[in-house]
Amino acid sequence: MESLLNRLVEKNRELTHKGNVATYIPMLGRANPRELGICVLDIGDNKYVAGDYKQKFTIQSISKIISLMIALSDNGEEKVFNKVGMEPTGDPFNSIIKLETVYPSKPLNPMINAGAIVISSMIKGKDSNEKFHRLLEFIREISGNNSLNVDNEVYLSEKKTGDRNRAMAYFMKSQGVIEGDVEEVLDIYFKQCSIKVDCEDIANIGLFLANEGMLNKSNKQIISPHIARIIKTFMVTCGMYDESGEFAIKVGIPAKSGVGGGILASVPYRMGIGIYGPSLNKKGNSIGGYGLIKDLSTELDLSIF
Ligand code: GLN
Repeated sequence: MESLLNRLVEKNRELTHKGNVATYIPMLGRANPRELGICVLDIGDNKYVAGDYKQKFTIQSISKIISLMIALSDNGEEKVFNKVGMEPTGDPFNSIIKLETVYPSKPLNPMINAGAIVISSMIKGKDSNEKFHRLLEFIREISGNNSLNVDNEVYLSEKKTGDRNRAMAYFMKSQGVIEGDVEEVLDIYFKQCSIKVDCEDIANIGLFLANEGMLNKSNKQIISPHIARIIKTFMVTCGMYDESGEFAIKVGIPAKSGVGGGILASVPYRMGIGIYGPSLNKKGNSIGGYGLIKDLSTELDLSIF
C-alpha cells in the first residue's frame, strides 16, 4: 500500500505546477506549492502515509463539516434546515449572488461560506468564546489529537481581510437569517477555519465518519449515525465546491476540501483519507490532491457508486 501511495504522490506532484496557492488570505500564501502528502487510516487500525503528510496546514472549509455536526446535534435537523438549505449551488464557495435572488433568503447549503457562517451562529454556548471552545474540544476528540489549536497568524490574516464574508454575514443579519452579534459569529467562523491540522488528523475524522460517527479506537459513539450520514451526503453533493459533480463521477468518495490545500475523504465502512497539497485549481481544490485521490479511487476501487 505505501509503495502505491508513494508512486501516486510522485506522479501527481507534477500537477502542482499547474495550480496556485491561495493568496486572498495573505498568510496562506506562505505555503510551498510543491508539497503533496497523504495519510490513509483503515478500520482495521492500519495507517499508511506518503509524501509531505507531516506538514501542518489550516483546515479552512473542511471545518464546515465540523460546525455542521455540532449545530445539528445542538439544534436538531428541522431548526438547522430552516435556516440553511440542502441544495448545491453551482456557484463558487464565496459567492454572494443567490442570497438576494433566492427567496426566502437563506443560503443554499452549509458548505458555501454563507451557509457555514449561519451554521457557526447556531452552535450553542454562553458567548463566542465558549462556542468556539466547544468546537475545538469536539474536533480534538474526533481527530484523536488533543493538541489541535488555532494558527493565530492565519486567523488574524483572515479576520483582517475577510470583508467578503463580513458583507454576506451583515446581509444575512438584515434578512433575519443570522441572529446575534455578526462580528462574534464571524470570529467563530474565522477561528474554526484557522485550526491547524495535518493529514493524519483529517484522516481520523474521515474514519470517524466512515464508522457512522463512532471513534475507531474506543468504539465511543460521538454523533448519531443519522447525522454522520447527512454530513457524508453533503460531502458528495457540495464538498468540493462547484466541482462536486465532476468529483463524484471521477472519484466517487464523500470528500470535503479547504483552500489551505486539505482534502478530507471518507470511504464508508472502510477508511478515512487525509490529503494535503496547497497548490489549488481554479475552483479552489487541491490540484495534486484531486489527482491523487482520483488515482487512488481507481486503483483500489473506492467509488461508492
Ligand atoms: N476561510 C475561507 C474563507 O472563508 C474558507 C474557504 C475555503 O476553504 N473554501 O474564505
